[in-house]
Amino acid sequence: MDSLGRDGLGVRQMRTRQTKYIFVTGGVMSSLGKGLASASIGALLEARGLNVTFLKLDPYLNVDPGTMNPFQHGEVYVTEDGAETDLDLGHYERFTTSDMGKVNNVTAGRIYDTVLSKERHGDYLGGTVQVVPHITDAIQERIAVAAEGVDVILVEIGGTVGDIESLPFLEAIRQFRASVGRQHTCFVHVAPVLYLSAAGELKTKPVQHSVKELQSVGLAPDIILCRTDRFLDKAIKAKIGLFCNVDDDAVITAKDVDTIYEVPLVFHQEGLDEKVSQVLNMWTGRPDLRKWEEVVQTLREPKLELTITMVGKYVDLTESYKSLNEALVHGGIPTGARVKIEYVDSEKLEDGTALRDSQGILVPHGFGSRGTEGKIRAVQFARENDIPFLGICFGMQMAVCEFARNVAGCEGANSTEIDVNTPHPVISLLPGQESIEDKGATMRLGSYPCTLVPGSRAALAYGCTEIAERHRHRYEFNNEYLERLEAAGMVFSGRSPDGKLVEIVELPDHPFFVASQFHPEFKSKPFAPHPLFQAFIEAVAKRQAAKS
Ligand code: GLN
Repeated sequence: MDSLGRDGLGVRQMRTRQTKYIFVTGGVMSSLGKGLASASIGALLEARGLNVTFLKLDPYLNVDPGTMNPFQHGEVYVTEDGAETDLDLGHYERFTTSDMGKVNNVTAGRIYDTVLSKERHGDYLGGTVQVVPHITDAIQERIAVAAEGVDVILVEIGGTVGDIESLPFLEAIRQFRASVGRQHTCFVHVAPVLYLSAAGELKTKPVQHSVKELQSVGLAPDIILCRTDRFLDKAIKAKIGLFCNVDDDAVITAKDVDTIYEVPLVFHQEGLDEKVSQVLNMWTGRPDLRKWEEVVQTLREPKLELTITMVGKYVDLTESYKSLNEALVHGGIPTGARVKIEYVDSEKLEDGTALRDSQGILVPHGFGSRGTEGKIRAVQFARENDIPFLGICFGMQMAVCEFARNVAGCEGANSTEIDVNTPHPVISLLPGQESIEDKGATMRLGSYPCTLVPGSRAALAYGCTEIAERHRHRYEFNNEYLERLEAAGMVFSGRSPDGKLVEIVELPDHPFFVASQFHPEFKSKPFAPHPLFQAFIEAVAKRQAAKS
């Protein structure tokens, strides 16, 4: 049964009322998929006609994740307004139509930074500055700012309940619930239910313990999402409900799935959106999930399978390439292709042998000199063997170096990031960047406009000539080499509107060779695959079809 209001009137009425707040916490361990769970709840509520947004609260002390090594933290997701954020914001944007930005990811470091700056400024008028109330108030202010103008905000608390770092956030949301009213808030707790094969049993104790941990800080979940590898039956749900003090129908199976785009469907089947609506006293229509079903169907029963070789540095932690991986998957959907990714460590790439069977090659973003020669070899292999190639950011810079060296006769061409003394600095810093010493938030970040050359492969893929894409880099193409590389056959098909910055390069005499200085992957969604990824996968499919 849905919670009434099927004519949409309820939704309109609600908009004039109160914003609703959903808080998502995680227990026992990390990597339970809290981010995906939050994104999926958002997707279901959006499908019920509500206007949703998100806030990720991260308990670490970095002011933002921009300075963190991808090996530690996974991908840094860049928003339109140039915020360097947690990768969960990528899930939020991919799963819904919400636009994330600076206000949607706040770390403990950012909160402390704000409070301490105010303290130095004398704003506390001689008072003692403390975690409670000053830090907890600052957290609550951030929640209120992020929630402006929406029906529902999902606030995901990073880390695990019981961590010392999470405490101020948990206290802040406890107080928040008291101030906005219980009926406007919903607490969702994600915890594992483990199947012990030796005992042949599902174990609910870890869930019970983590709920106890929540209770010890004054919080009680309304809904428990049990992360598990199988559907939980009624008896197990009743047991968890009894011991954790929630309704039986508030115990939801968050079952492992083949594709992440199935999560909203599983949640819906388990009655999650219905329960959330009930807890929040919301009257909304039944969700229309047809587009989700279609995507899942295509990915489950694809017409063909393709494999893309990604030649990068962070291959042992593929979370570093989260948005790229997803954009490749999206790129295959219109062709009915399931795209698999094979990761090759650029440091180990001595020659093209490992790439001999590659169907398509992607060289992704990267920083620093480690593994760069391997990336350049991968570009060369793709170019010389007519293998579809897509270069992203550092991948474009490597493509330029390769072309300069091996086609335009600029021996030793390089980026000054790798070799400051290169005889041919084809990629270099713009004047002004050299003097920047702070590492945090000082790159070219966020969305910039770009004009495409009509008739170019890029313009054909986009179907227009004015685009805007997100950036995160310090180095740029050095225009002193433009004519020389152009004369050798490289096409500069995308530039900033003033013509000063090169944004896309391509090779016309090749099945598909396109590289962008920006990060197209951040704007790709399952229902709106990014044109460059779609065109890349189409080229790969075409080449494979011709071969067979
Ligand atoms: N390291 C390069 C730069 O800063 C590329 C960055 C990236 O790939 N995101 O310009």
